[in-house]
Amino acid sequence: MSFPSFSWDLLRSTATLIVCSLAATVLHHPDALVPPSTGVLSDPHIGLAINPRVTPRVVNCTGTEAEALSQAVPLAIDYIANALAELEHEGPEGDNYRRWFGAPNRQRHSTVSSHFEALARDDLPGYTFICNPSACTEHESECAFVDYTIKGVMNLCSGFFIAPNRGRNSRASIIVHEATHFFRNGFTSDHARGESESERLARSFPHIAITNADNYEYFAADACSRGGALHSLTDAS
Ligand SMILES: [Zn+2]
Repeated sequence: MSFPSFSWDLLRSTATLIVCSLAATVLHHPDALVPPSTGVLSDPHIGLAINPRVTPRVVNCTGTEAEALSQAVPLAIDYIANALAELEHEGPEGDNYRRWFGAPNRQRHSTVSSHFEALARDDLPGYTFICNPSACTEHESECAFVDYTIKGVMNLCSGFFIAPNRGRNSRASIIVHEATHFFRNGFTSDHARGESESERLARSFPHIAITNADNYEYFAADACSRGGALHSLTDAS
């Protein structure tokens, strides 16, 4: 299978371009520029063995950028696994669910779960990551974007690489965010951006929150930082 040739003109001229803005707090955090610790990947927040390192397919990336991706992609996969485990074990009554997806509702919980299941089935290590495409320079607030018609291709701008490796608005959570935009993973939109807006969306319009990429991003990041159900399972074993 081959991807169609990439056309930036096409991306800019159609409605298929979806962008993600990085929270200003992260952009202005000089600490975010410090690369994650070298060597073995570990996350003290979760009791699950981190996925092994991957070597993602990269285009136009520096060695440092490729290294950042080799750590962020497996962490994103762990975020998705923790999110799924938490959804399963806590159901729609869980604090994290209610914070990012609003009032408990079995049908909406099922929709959210199905999207994380699709993400878990997806082949993130097989994605192609394009670093600093020319479109980045025209939208300085962008950290990443995808054309949802071009399956498995993620475009990353400078905002992505100055983000921290983990947590909300991190490289790992941004990958989760972008992956939810694809048809097969939920086909989310960017109705609301940032933590405050996304929380407000969940409180006031939960049926829209379950279609908003940032809400999935923050739910997954928080599920991982809280330890999630996987943490409890590992502790119990
Ligand atoms: Zn987005």
